[in-house]
Amino acid sequence: MSLRPVHVVGGGLAGSEAAWQIAQAGVPVVLHEMRPVRGTDAHQSDRLAELVCSNSFRADDWAGNVVGLLHAEMRRLGSLIMAAGDAHQVPAGGALAVDREGFSQAVTERLEAHRRVTIVREEVAGLPDRSWDSVIVATGPLTSPALTEAILGLTGEGQLSFFDAIAPIVHLESIDFDVAWRQSRYDKEGPGGDAAAYINCPMDKAQYEAFIDALLDGPKAEFKEWENVPYFDGCLPIEVMAERGRETLRHGPMKPVGLTNPHNPTVKAYAIVQLRQDNALGTLFNMVGFQTKLKHGAQVEVFRTIPGLEGAEFARLGGLHRNTFINSPRLLDVQLRLKADPRLRFAGQVTGVEGYVESAAVGLLAGRFAAAERRGHTLAAPPPTTALGALIGHITGGHIEGGKFQPMNINYGLLPPMEAPRHGADGQRIPVKERGRAKKRLMSERALHDLDAWLAGPVKAAAE
Ligand SMILES: Cc1cc2nc3c(=O)[nH]c(=O)nc-3n(C[C@H](O)[C@H](O)[C@H](O)COP(=O)(O)OP(=O)(O)OC[C@H]3O[C@@H](n4cnc5c(N)ncnc54)[C@H](O)[C@@H]3O)c2cc1C
Repeated sequence: MSLRPVHVVGGGLAGSEAAWQIAQAGVPVVLHEMRPVRGTDAHQSDRLAELVCSNSFRADDWAGNVVGLLHAEMRRLGSLIMAAGDAHQVPAGGALAVDREGFSQAVTERLEAHRRVTIVREEVAGLPDRSWDSVIVATGPLTSPALTEAILGLTGEGQLSFFDAIAPIVHLESIDFDVAWRQSRYDKEGPGGDAAAYINCPMDKAQYEAFIDALLDGPKAEFKEWENVPYFDGCLPIEVMAERGRETLRHGPMKPVGLTNPHNPTVKAYAIVQLRQDNALGTLFNMVGFQTKLKHGAQVEVFRTIPGLEGAEFARLGGLHRNTFINSPRLLDVQLRLKADPRLRFAGQVTGVEGYVESAAVGLLAGRFAAAERRGHTLAAPPPTTALGALIGHITGGHIEGGKFQPMNINYGLLPPMEAPRHGADGQRIPVKERGRAKKRLMSERALHDLDAWLAGPVKAAAE
């Protein structure tokens, strides 16, 4: 029986991986890439899977770094992006960095050579043709304006973002609760009945003044000319607020009212930094109102001067970028299909993941889902204990109700937590400072074990 093709729009990191997975599953695929007919502001060539900036896929250590774990999972699933990356790596210590031209040339050649892949160089300048009954939209952060307009028509205003304005996100376990405390302003109950939704970090006057100086003096990242990111008054970078007056933050996101420090109840804090839960698991908290263009190194340095955050580990740092992404938790089902038009799947950065590897990972899953569907099956998503499952969980449901959905790199905070082990497999006590690494190893081992079980498991029939 000849199968109808799946159409993939966008031959970047996600689209190339999706097309490969579909073809490898025995299903024909048509990959529509607009370059070189139409360019973007960042791409330079007509190659597929072009790396628009750094040449790094980040750490390659599966046991101690979650991006390395994602690499390992993708390799197990026959990822083209990982195979081409491995074949074209350049020396980079513990990171997987690649020869960018060799890498994307390899991806292009392997897709061009695949008998089930047809590559069409054209812009899909509106909603995909109605006759395409299975489509993966993987057009990335620089989706062409005509397609963006069409997506906006489907999703509605407010469900498609053109910029990410991200406040730093901190791992809960790295916050010092001998200094910080949980309380909502005026003990106000939220809809879930929780009156202690926020984590509060107090500052005295000297700490606040030093913090403002550090914000004003810290090095800032520049916008690229084409990014032309506008500042919205509700979402100003924290250093821009500080520039407007030294007291602005104390009357804005850092106002010290309606809160009592249980560690020091008689002393009123001069300013208070608040953190709010960021994921459904409750392992990650974002710094409220702290979106910033400070350079990453400066963010770590300055934000670790905040009392209670001296040992903060950041799941992601703040930023403000041009980025096109949809409100996936609301718009997509667990199969990455648009609820309003299920023939369309989304993949890559446009779904609200961030990074080359994460974009390719979502492409990999979208491709497998689409191929299984074409064959009359439903492929369940990988378990949430895997890096792949955690990513898809984040974009289709892991984000908390009411919170503003913002793009995210993979991080251990997206996986269900485990206790740090006190003893090794040999029964020996693990020194305290090595327990964090031992915990990451356990989580990574659990992930690969669960991924293998998922791979070996049955594909659920669509009728079930
Ligand atoms: C300037 C910039 C720098 C970045 N730097 C990094 C970095 O250093 N490291 C990192 O990990 N991540 C980085 N990212 C984030 C992100 O990981 C990459 O953008 C990544 O390439 C996203 O993969 P993708 O497949 O979703 O999109 P892309 O790789 O951008 O692929 C999308 C493809 O779709 C095509 N396309 C767009 N619209 C249409 C259309 N209507 N019809 C047909 N084709 C279309 C584009 O030409 C492109 O080839 C950066 C992003 C930007 C914008």
